[in-house]
Amino acid sequence: PPAQFAWDPTKKTIAVLGSGWAATSFLSGLDTENYNVVVVSPRNYFLFTPLLPSCTVGTIELRSIMQPMRYLTRFKKREVLFVEGDCKEIDNENQTIHVVDNSEIVGQVSEQKIPYDYLIVACGAENATFGIPGVHEHACFLKEAWDAKKIRTRLMDCLETAAFPGQTEDEIRRILHMVVVGGGPTGVEYAAELHDFLHEDLLDWYPDLAGKIKITLVEAMPHVLPMFSKQLIDYTEKHFAHNKVDILNNTAVKKVNQRDIVVQDANKELHTIPYGLLVWATGNTARPVVQNLIKSLPSTLQNQRRGLVVNDYLSVLGAQGIFGLGDATATKWAPTAQVASRQGAYLARVFNTIGPMDDKSADAAAVKAAVEWVGPFKYEHLGSLAYIGGDRAIADLPIGVHIGGALTYYFWRSAYLSNLFSMRNRVLVAFDWTKKTVFGRDISRE
Ligand code: FAD
Ligand code: NAD
Repeated sequence: PPAQFAWDPTKKTIAVLGSGWAATSFLSGLDTENYNVVVVSPRNYFLFTPLLPSCTVGTIELRSIMQPMRYLTRFKKREVLFVEGDCKEIDNENQTIHVVDNSEIVGQVSEQKIPYDYLIVACGAENATFGIPGVHEHACFLKEAWDAKKIRTRLMDCLETAAFPGQTEDEIRRILHMVVVGGGPTGVEYAAELHDFLHEDLLDWYPDLAGKIKITLVEAMPHVLPMFSKQLIDYTEKHFAHNKVDILNNTAVKKVNQRDIVVQDANKELHTIPYGLLVWATGNTARPVVQNLIKSLPSTLQNQRRGLVVNDYLSVLGAQGIFGLGDATATKWAPTAQVASRQGAYLARVFNTIGPMDDKSADAAAVKAAVEWVGPFKYEHLGSLAYIGGDRAIADLPIGVHIGGALTYYFWRSAYLSNLFSMRNRVLVAFDWTKKTVFGRDISRE
């Protein structure tokens, strides 16, 4: 290893890719006494994604749901090294990762090969576009902190451009058409936040324009939120209709242009829909580093395009000492924070068991003994929650309870507040909610 890592040669090295749900849960649970640990991620913070849609309109400020990784690593028993960089390549044979500093400030050294004994691939997934032309060029995604910031800026830009003197009526209506593609929970929660912003703030600040703002949610399947119960799907669709958020079900986007999208309806007819702001939320696909790892492993074992195939112990099939967690994997569970964090905690237990029994000469045997001791990963679903706007939320709970409404909204709020990473995050989010109630949302364009 490079000299500055100052690793203990008697200990095994664990490299962790990512600073999201799976990686932070793994690191929180890991007893670092027995390992050298290095964490590699292009962002130096953990992001609480369930409240990200609230940041697109300023209900919550971004920094309230971010927590620096160093906050976590500095409190571990032994030093954990954090490297801000992208893992570009995983060399399974030589057990090294190639890490590149992709930030704006580039020093004399901007890439590094880091050797590992165990690699934890927890680098999540990227946005699926299904090769539809124009998406990357013209749409905004909603996965990372910078995506939410970009949406907030563009939204305010649309309003100010529509208010520019002399703007024609047709152009105003186009610019103020906010289109969301994908009726999964991300698209629904974003449309809900947008609706709240319009009704709670924009009506006062832009009284001439507010009535011309239109929100449309485009979904390829017959209904939105396919993972929720039928009762809650109906409830959400009715609630959206009541709030004048249009849902175009059975409608697939085929092409994205700078000012309009081309969609195909259930009768296979094509239509053009003009838009001012387009948010793309059609789910996940594997990151390039994961795709390349999949290609380097036997295709009989790694046959899923959406992620790594792992066994019941989260070990990547066909690889040596590599484990896969969260959205980077293709498992029978939905790619959610719940699954990712539970997997991280499980794998920490496995490594805490390997640690004391490990011995340099018997890697595979030590892992085998540990996983047999801990048992396979088991997932118990605690339920799904989603915010649908107008102080209403829906909850599908595993005991057969499907509820929606104002009370569920308070349940949603308290569940997310208590799940935030730290006390600091909880105080900041509670403060943001209060600030919004007292002063409204900030409409300045950054
Ligand atoms: P992530 O949390 O995405 O973390 C991946 C990490 O890897 C990041 O730190 C990233 O910077 C890093 N990384 C990326 N590329 C590289 C690389 N090349 N090398 C090294 N590191 C890399 N799930 C729920 O259960 N409940 C919810 O309410 C919920 N709400 C959501 C709302 C939104 C808007 C979104 C987008 C998702 C939501 N999800 C929710 C899903 C949940 O966020 C994901 O399932 C979860 O983040 C997956 O965790 P992960 O650790 O696998 O990946
Ligand atoms: P998703 O995969 O859940 O939904 C994407 C939707 O986009 C699908 O319904 C799909 O039919 C639609 N779609 C795909 N291509 C399309 C096209 N060309 N035109 C129109 N529609 C198209 O994606 P997501 O909402 O980003 O969620 C990703 C994961 O994160 C899921 O596992 C989800 O459960 C989880 N998540 C959970 C929550 C929550 O629990 N509140 C919130 C956000 C995300």
